[in-house]
Amino acid sequence: MKITYSIIAPIYNELENIPELYRRVREIMESTREPWELILVDDGSTDGSTEAILDLAKEHECVRPLIFARNFGHQIAITAGWDYARGDAVVIIDADLQDPPELILEMAKKWKEGYEVVYAVRTEREGESWFKLWTASLFYRLIYRITDVKIPLDTGDFRLMDRKVVDVLRQMRERHRFPRGMSAWVGFRQVGVEYKRAARKAGETKYPFRKMFRLALNAITSFSYFPLQVATFFGFASAGIAIIAIPFVVYMRITGSQAFFGQATTLIAVLFLGGVQLISLGILGEYIGRLYDEAKGRPLYILRDAPKDQ
Ligand code: UDP
Ligand code: MG
Repeated sequence: MKITYSIIAPIYNELENIPELYRRVREIMESTREPWELILVDDGSTDGSTEAILDLAKEHECVRPLIFARNFGHQIAITAGWDYARGDAVVIIDADLQDPPELILEMAKKWKEGYEVVYAVRTEREGESWFKLWTASLFYRLIYRITDVKIPLDTGDFRLMDRKVVDVLRQMRERHRFPRGMSAWVGFRQVGVEYKRAARKAGETKYPFRKMFRLALNAITSFSYFPLQVATFFGFASAGIAIIAIPFVVYMRITGSQAFFGQATTLIAVLFLGGVQLISLGILGEYIGRLYDEAKGRPLYILRDAPKDQ
């Protein structure tokens, strides 16, 4: 059977949310009267989500499970979903019901009007800490400023994409990925629909600060050389200051000034430049580490069992 909609939900320890997710997605998708499938990607859950997904798949034919051998991360789970989706339109949705499945209908309408990427823009966010709101907002704006790709502000991964777009994305096999950036990068006709982001249905966020930081680094390094250019800028600035300072200091010495006799000035200059150099080295390291990972060419993810219906 030809499938119209593939809904992909990455799942990492979302046991309490799975039945409700299925129920709401089913309700919405049945109202379209078109064939659909729900791809549940289990990203190495340890709370019994895996079994819940497999049970659900046994019961309902439209549920397709992809079980990872371990935790590979949200972005990779989305990628696996792209790889196995069969629909003409592919939707990514969070499993914690922060993204209302009801919005899929609105997205589908835009898709039928001819848009190839329909992304959801958050106008409001409920139940998030001020820290998350603040860092997220800062992050979106920073990325917008320093990358070449104009990633729409305040959009997450919740979006619908045409088969054409997914086929292009599937060819992009980079390891450190930022799916919403990738889907902006490919171009095509894109449009946003607005929604109010709900609070998490159950459980805790699976994005501790560490993972958010990683994601931000991936986003920046995959779409921009800005951090590397900052190092160059500091290099020119310090060299410039030094060049201007030399005749100035010589002049002061000749005229008998005592201004630059102290050790403190030397120490501060050495510490400052040492710091800038180490930071630049670290930034370089981030890029080189990513290069090394790409060079290894390992598979992006490992499935515990091959899907039966592929
Ligand atoms: N997730 C995942 N692997 C991870 C972390 C998260 O598949 O390593 C899934 C998670 O189950 C959820 C989605 O990614 O469906 C978004 O995660 P979460 O809701 O915790 O992020 P937040 O909404 O707090 O940013
Ligand atoms: Mg969430």
